[in-house]
Amino acid sequence: MQQPDVVIIGAGAAGLMCAITAGRRGRRVRVIEHTNRPGKKILMSGGGRCNFTNTGTTPANFLSANPHFCKSALARFTAWHFIERVEQHGIAYHEKELGQLFCDVSSKLIVKMLLDDAQDAGVEVVTDCSVNELSHNGDRFALRTTKGAVTSESLVIASGGLSIPRMGATGFGYRVAEQFGHRLLPTRAGLVPFTTSGKHLERWSELSGLSLPVQADCSGASFSNAMLFTHRGLSGPAMLQVSSYWQPGDDLRINLLPDTDAQEWITSQRQQRPDAALHNVLADVLPRRFAQRICDLEFGERPMRQYDPPQLKRIADYLSRWPIVVSGTEGYRTAEVTLGGVDTDELSSTTMASKRVPGLHFIGEVVDVTGWLGGYNFQWAWASGHAAGQAC
Ligand SMILES: Cc1cc2nc3c(=O)[nH]c(=O)nc-3n(C[C@H](O)[C@H](O)[C@H](O)COP(=O)(O)OP(=O)(O)OC[C@H]3O[C@@H](n4cnc5c(N)ncnc54)[C@H](O)[C@@H]3O)c2cc1C
Repeated sequence: MQQPDVVIIGAGAAGLMCAITAGRRGRRVRVIEHTNRPGKKILMSGGGRCNFTNTGTTPANFLSANPHFCKSALARFTAWHFIERVEQHGIAYHEKELGQLFCDVSSKLIVKMLLDDAQDAGVEVVTDCSVNELSHNGDRFALRTTKGAVTSESLVIASGGLSIPRMGATGFGYRVAEQFGHRLLPTRAGLVPFTTSGKHLERWSELSGLSLPVQADCSGASFSNAMLFTHRGLSGPAMLQVSSYWQPGDDLRINLLPDTDAQEWITSQRQQRPDAALHNVLADVLPRRFAQRICDLEFGERPMRQYDPPQLKRIADYLSRWPIVVSGTEGYRTAEVTLGGVDTDELSSTTMASKRVPGLHFIGEVVDVTGWLGGYNFQWAWASGHAAGQAC
């Protein structure tokens, strides 16, 4: 069999986009995937409907030790380029909120689109294939795989991060990076639910399933969106977003009344409704069960007129800075992404090529570029895959 020009490790979002781009340039491309099916994370994404991009994507929506690194690739392959392909394939989609685009029917259509385009570009996708050994002789890469030996001029590492191991995530890309002398930035789970323990778990876990809008702040980042109580702690978009900025010991601030001055509001409620019980007043702005629980635990259920100004201040402080302490996160088991990874300092931002080894590229989640929740991570996968595919 003729040897490929380009070998791509990982048939996920970034790997398939890179393969299509390189294949369309006439490169012989082989994608090696160790699971039995390409695009498993795409299939499970967006609740089965794949939030495939975000029309508001800017470099500010990404975390990276070098916030400038993602700019070039994102500018050259935008959300609109991907939308054009989706439309060409007749895939119906809709905007959910904040520029987030989802398939109307199923994520399967995105995987099918990528595989059809890959096939048209002459790409060979080999599944159930693992790499046992990898070397570079200064000219070509040599791989010993479970389906035979292969050599190539370019090698693209698109094997993703560590999140959701049962979907095929491995630390392969990081090991390759280390093998070739690349620096790795510490990895950790991102876009992940928080866990609580002790009284913080006991007090709130029975509200599991309840959700409300909050503003969550941590390490200079602020997100206004829904928070969801779970039987382990806290999830929902606001908490997932802020989890990427949180590290143990960091101060996490949750405002239960976003866009409202809690002190002003509670004072005016006392004036306007002196006979209303506090839990009924709180239930106007919070889910009733949550309001009731707060009163049971902290403030009682008296009529508003019986709360004096210092007590009203305590209530306002409680609402604008809910005193919950998180103990950790659910980790890679449920995280949508992995923060950190291959240091961008040693990669070209235009081609994703290694500055150490000619012909080696790193794309997608394995690189230290992580998007917010909302389609940004796929947009990074498409953009970085496209950038490498044009160059490899
Ligand atoms: C539950 C969930 C939902 C998500 N929803 C969204 C969403 O709606 N929108 C969004 O933008 N992002 C979403 N994400 C994040 C998004 O899926 C990832 O950021 C994106 O898939 C990263 O693309 P990638 O190609 O770098 O990695 P992956 O898509 O993870 O692909 C890596 C591929 O490499 C393969 N691989 C790993 N190790 C090896 C090896 N040793 N040899 C061969 N192959 C290997 C893997 O099996 C996999 O197929 C979600 C993530 C999860 C977990």
